[in-house]
Amino acid sequence: MNVDMHVHSAHSDGVQSPGKLVEMAAESRLSAISLTDHDSLEGVAECIAEAEKRGLEAISGVELSAELDDRDFHILGYGIDPKDEKLQNMLGQFRETRIKRGYKILEKLHAAGISLDAEQVMAVSPDGALGRPHIAKALFKNGFVKTYQEAFDRFLADGGPAYVKKFKLDPGEAVDYIHAAGGLAFVAHPGTFIRNIGELVEILAMGFDGIEVAHPNHSNSQRAEFETLAAEHNVLASGGSDYHGFTGKDTPIGKLEVPYRYFESIKERLQEINT
Ligand code: AMP
Ligand code: ZN
Ligand code: FE
Ligand code: FE
Repeated sequence: MNVDMHVHSAHSDGVQSPGKLVEMAAESRLSAISLTDHDSLEGVAECIAEAEKRGLEAISGVELSAELDDRDFHILGYGIDPKDEKLQNMLGQFRETRIKRGYKILEKLHAAGISLDAEQVMAVSPDGALGRPHIAKALFKNGFVKTYQEAFDRFLADGGPAYVKKFKLDPGEAVDYIHAAGGLAFVAHPGTFIRNIGELVEILAMGFDGIEVAHPNHSNSQRAEFETLAAEHNVLASGGSDYHGFTGKDTPIGKLEVPYRYFESIKERLQEINT
């Protein structure tokens, strides 16, 4: 029995609706799913309702963007109350800041002679989510670049001519928001940003409850290393495909092996802390 605890819908930077993602999970015979949109809880209710209809288990999820000395540090929250007001307000501010950033990126593109406009960007983001992937897609669709990747290579990559820094949370703050909303905080895909395993041990001390062990960007040896570390430090393990559906190159839902026991332990811990 496998699960997928890291997927994105069109409420952030994915392509599919939450309901469609659950359908895909069901078709892949997964037994549980968690939708983890960036900075948004809007798809959670649909995901949980659809999972119930199709006989899958589901828990709420979110992926927050924090920063650790200039590196992207993503944090997964599981089991948060999607109606928690403090968390919702924080996410609302976060999204506003992202929209302002989108306009700044467009200004920089204009300065570089690229006349992409806001409507063209909104056309690729039905639910109003806005990040660099949307702008890249709009650049591609409107013929400013020949491939999606070229948009990053020429303009949008970190330090590129149209790069604008994203507002990010302090990791400790993100963990506190998740805990206050009744959830568990996980270090997302540590293999993509940690310098060494010692650093991950230091990170855990910020109050994390778990590590995302299984992720498409982790090698088998990283996965084994993180799983051992989680056991040694008595924290939970999670995993997922990080499916977005944007480029067609994503790991499909159900292709990554993520055992049900990860989900089960998380569910049990949530029951313990919320009773
Ligand atoms: P944002 O959160 O708006 O800064 O966008 C971050 C996302 O942009 C990442 O999750 C990647 O999907 C994509 N991205 C960032 N840098 C690159 C790059 N150099 N090449 C391709 N995609 C990238
Ligand atoms: Zn994403
Ligand atoms: Fe991430
Ligand atoms: Fe993600």
